[in-house]
Amino acid sequence: MLYYAQEQEVKNAVEGVKSKAEYTGPDPKLAASLEKEILDTNPGVRWDDVAGLNESKRLLQEAVVLPLWMPQYFQGIRRPRRGVLMFGPPGTGKTLLAKAVATECGTTFQNVSCSSLCAKWYGESERLVRCLFDLARAHAPSTIFIDEIDSLCSARGASGEHEVSRRVKSELLVQIDGLNNSTKNTAGKPVTVLAATNFPSGLDEALRRRLEKRIYIPLPDFESRKELIKINLKSIALAPDLDIDQVARRTEGYSGDDPTNICRDASLNGMRRKIAGKNPDEIKNMSEAEILEIPVMMDNLLEALVKIQPTVSRGDIERHEKWFSEFGST
Ligand code: ADP
Repeated sequence: MLYYAQEQEVKNAVEGVKSKAEYTGPDPKLAASLEKEILDTNPGVRWDDVAGLNESKRLLQEAVVLPLWMPQYFQGIRRPRRGVLMFGPPGTGKTLLAKAVATECGTTFQNVSCSSLCAKWYGESERLVRCLFDLARAHAPSTIFIDEIDSLCSARGASGEHEVSRRVKSELLVQIDGLNNSTKNTAGKPVTVLAATNFPSGLDEALRRRLEKRIYIPLPDFESRKELIKINLKSIALAPDLDIDQVARRTEGYSGDDPTNICRDASLNGMRRKIAGKNPDEIKNMSEAEILEIPVMMDNLLEALVKIQPTVSRGDIERHEKWFSEFGST
């Protein structure tokens, strides 16, 4: 596997990013404010922190990571994709994967949440989009991660679409098109757009064409759910009766976020039982060891399983699978 093969280069690249000169492009005030809000020089998420999703990791590595590591190979017909889209139900790890890509590449990471940014800079959104790309070029190599891109770019002409949103979309298309030439003004260092959506069918066709690689991030399979449960329980005491396979089997249809919630709830159940019937003074006087050593037991997980239901519906998965068969990449 290549994932960790070039660890040192990644480290150097990250250090390089940290020591980069100040931004001197247009709109410095907006840029400074954006830098504070969305710039992350090292999100610190590794591939191993993302459970399963091996096929998605492979596709992302080929579309985003490798072109950065071997730019001389990714020329002509092999030129890197202008934009990459991750789509799938909510809570399946799209944001986590974007952070892993940025960490692995050692690129500056701009984490743009459309709904919150557009609300904050309402009326200035076109300027905002331009400034995002200016910043990305100044900090290249960089990855612009646009989360919830559907909220910015729903299908053109959809009822209720505002004039503002139409202009923002047009600006975004212009900027993504400009990425083809951007390596000329970033000394050969690429800027990549990585977008994510839970509603791919709402995307504008023009934008869909520009997000050339469209990667499906599905619900976790059995092995991934096992891995997820192990990641979540790795730093706490566990009872010997814990049957992770059984929990993984019983969480079929759950998103990646759901097992995290189940483990969190289960990890509190032991404490809840221990303090039941005690008065506040008795609780306050419990020793640290007494509290920290309460192991998570199988019963705790089973109780949490009853309380926490899957957040993604069958209909939602079918919609994603249909879109994948029409527009997805393999
Ligand atoms: P999305 O962007 O797809 O809505 P996120 O990446 O924000 O989902 O995931 C939400 C949370 O769910 C993460 O912070 C993490 O705790 C957990 N999670 C989801 N999928 C995975 C995964 N494959 N591996 C590890 N944690 C995951």
